[in-house]
Amino acid sequence: MNVEIVTTGTELLLGEIVDTNAATIARRLREIGVNLYYKTTVGDNRARLAEVLRLGLQRSDAIIVTGGLGPTVDDITREAVADATGRPLELRTDLVERLQALFAGWGRPLTPNNLRQAYLPAGAIVMPNPIGTAVGFIVEHDVGGRTCAILCMPGVPREMERMLADHVLPYLRQRQGESGIIVTRTLHVAGVGESLIDDRIAPFMTGSNPTVGLAAHLGRVDVRIAARAPTPEAAAALIAPVEAAIRERLGRWIYGADDETLAGVVAGLLRRRRATIALLETNTAGHIATMLRETAADLVVMALAGSDPAGLLGLETPLAAEEADACRAAHLLRERGNADYALVLLATQGPNQGFWAADRGHTWLALATPDGVRSERFGVGGSDEFSSRWLAVYGLNYLRLQLL
Ligand code: ATP
Ligand code: MG
Repeated sequence: MNVEIVTTGTELLLGEIVDTNAATIARRLREIGVNLYYKTTVGDNRARLAEVLRLGLQRSDAIIVTGGLGPTVDDITREAVADATGRPLELRTDLVERLQALFAGWGRPLTPNNLRQAYLPAGAIVMPNPIGTAVGFIVEHDVGGRTCAILCMPGVPREMERMLADHVLPYLRQRQGESGIIVTRTLHVAGVGESLIDDRIAPFMTGSNPTVGLAAHLGRVDVRIAARAPTPEAAAALIAPVEAAIRERLGRWIYGADDETLAGVVAGLLRRRRATIALLETNTAGHIATMLRETAADLVVMALAGSDPAGLLGLETPLAAEEADACRAAHLLRERGNADYALVLLATQGPNQGFWAADRGHTWLALATPDGVRSERFGVGGSDEFSSRWLAVYGLNYLRLQLL
């Protein structure tokens, strides 16, 4: 099921308030596995909102709208839905009674503009609002033999969240159930860029069931395989051959799946060898040690981090970001730490000039093992946030590849 979100309000459009509703809804939609393809923000303008809704009716199975359900003339969602679906607005006696009761309870007179909230497009299903005056509503509209539902909720986040949980998500879940469930499998890849992965697995990325998509993070890429089927078993059966083919093409670049983390996988490899590790990191703010310690604190016997690697090792002469120095440091660190493995990252200092810079600095990685020292050059250095996160992931993945 394909869903889109439309948030309304001129103050949102102008950036005066942040659109938290769209983010909240998007997260919740993801949890129930519906596809979210578009998010639109429109000002308080009846014609433009109607235009956005007409577009949504053509391309989506449900449109979730927030805001514009209040009693004032700039609350135009009811009118815009009526326009877009060609339905008249009808006065609902049940809603009039509700408003009368609310206002009587507050001891305030019901003014004519309050009655605006009692008008809904013909055929609308009411979504109650136990914590505010504006009720929500659903209009199920036929578009060439297909039904698109427009679900309108108040803009006030607290009221919206309540209605989302109590009515909108259950409604979508039920519609979704009629069209099967979605199962996803995520393969985690490191040490290779997004474009190369894309190149290798491109043939699978055009399928519709399962779908295959990529999400890039710094130093890592997720390959997400999602299948829709009547049962979880049937969905898993659709995923299995595609996963096997992708694994064959990406091989050891794949470090794990679903909830597995890079640090967890490396810790597992060390544990299987009953091996300990010592670390000397420059430019990573000690991030490799932090990540490893989260899952395997007992295996990290020594962890040094800082911009003066020679000082950290108690050496007189400085250590440069060069192969010989990295290997020497790794050898020394392994002895000092009395560890089975010792990983050293010696990176060029100073901020990285950026992804596209001619000189992005570099880092020499060296790993001392029981069988000798291995090393590798990585074309990123620098001590800024960007480099330090990337370097840490790269270093940890280098360790994984060497331990395989
Ligand atoms: P009301 O009955 O209060 O007028 P409404 O349904 O008409 O409710 P809006 O007038 O659009 O909703 O918004 C009411 C308030 O809710 C806004 O002033 C704003 O503070 C907040 N709000 C609206 N939309 C959003 C959003 N997308 N994200 C975060 N806050 C929002
Ligand atoms: Mg309003």
